[in-house]
Amino acid sequence: MKPFGYGVYPNVFTALEFERLSNATGPTGGKILIRDEDGALTRSPRSVALLHCIGSRDVNYHEYCSRVCCMYALKYTHLIKEKVGHDTKVYDFYIDMRCFGKGYEEFYRRCQEEGTIFIRGKVAEITDQAMRPEEQGKLIAIAEDTLLSRRVRVPVDLVVLSTAIEARHDAGDVGRLFGVNQGADGFFLEEHPKLGPLNTATDGVFLAGCCQKPMDIPDTVSQASGAAGKALSLAALGKVEVPPTISWIDPDICIGCQVCIGLCPYGAIEFNERKGVSEVNPAVCKGCGSCSGFCPSDAARSRHFKSEQIFAEIDGIMDAIAKVGR
Ligand SMILES: Cc1cc2nc3c(=O)[nH]c(=O)nc-3n(C[C@H](O)[C@H](O)[C@H](O)COP(=O)(O)OP(=O)(O)OC[C@H]3O[C@@H](n4cnc5c(N)ncnc54)[C@H](O)[C@@H]3O)c2cc1C
Repeated sequence: MKPFGYGVYPNVFTALEFERLSNATGPTGGKILIRDEDGALTRSPRSVALLHCIGSRDVNYHEYCSRVCCMYALKYTHLIKEKVGHDTKVYDFYIDMRCFGKGYEEFYRRCQEEGTIFIRGKVAEITDQAMRPEEQGKLIAIAEDTLLSRRVRVPVDLVVLSTAIEARHDAGDVGRLFGVNQGADGFFLEEHPKLGPLNTATDGVFLAGCCQKPMDIPDTVSQASGAAGKALSLAALGKVEVPPTISWIDPDICIGCQVCIGLCPYGAIEFNERKGVSEVNPAVCKGCGSCSGFCPSDAARSRHFKSEQIFAEIDGIMDAIAKVGR
């Protein structure tokens, strides 16, 4: 997102970089410093702009809300005031504030009282092209203040970008390994958003944290505790019940083409190199029928769904319909 000058202006940081900078174990020992002409972190900023929704809630990038940015941006306003000084000018550019958690709204109010200037509007551009004396040597955030309906130019020393939380680039590989599907946004898909928020399509594999969707630490910890509890309760049983309607591959017919392996959405089929045939792991198979529907040699079958059984069911239904005269 070039308009924000990341990588062009040395004092435009991502939130993750700022998090590191303000951390006691970070490069400055937790001191909030900006880069000088030589690129070294030496000076304290006198003014800071925090930009929300960089790549989130944006149809050109990610439509979803990254959920944690409003609150960590508020945390930064507080940290800057506390560490750099209460006279530091802090500007927070937001679309709307999402302070949904316990105590979050109260924290927002506290940051307002501490003197942070909240501007409702998305910054369009960060530039160093000064138009006024007070803008000389500064980064200028150009935005529309949608509450006042006017264009604003805010000169600052430091810009922090609240960049979108994205699914990891290798999430697809991890998903294939564990038989977990990804949604359109790349995050792992839960079995059901309300009835199975920790479960996945694969029994015994549970989700916790930001691999499922952006979430904050309290939500991550709750979800992780739930997922651990579910895994433990399965492990404590010592054995797994397998549904009867799962797939089976007849080893006498299988030609070893492995088409079924690519088709199985649960990663339940493996190739037995020694025997030269594909085999279904009954503990993982969900009996969806993808393999049996496509098997070119008709070796993959769904148990209890033999052709004779299906035809018998159809005959039964036809008989019942004939009896009622329709
Ligand atoms: C800038 C920023 C500031 C934030 N501030 C706050 C805050 O103040 N308060 C708050 O509540 N939340 C905050 N959050 C959100 C918080 O970071 C998350 O809620 C939390 O990190 C989620 O934990 P997690 O375990 O799901 O993911 P992560 O913390 O990302 O941990 C996942 C781990 O898995 C590892 N991993 C990934 N893939 C693989 C693989 N294939 N093999 C092995 N390891 C792998 C990763 O390296 C990582 O260590 C912030 C987020 C950001 C981006």
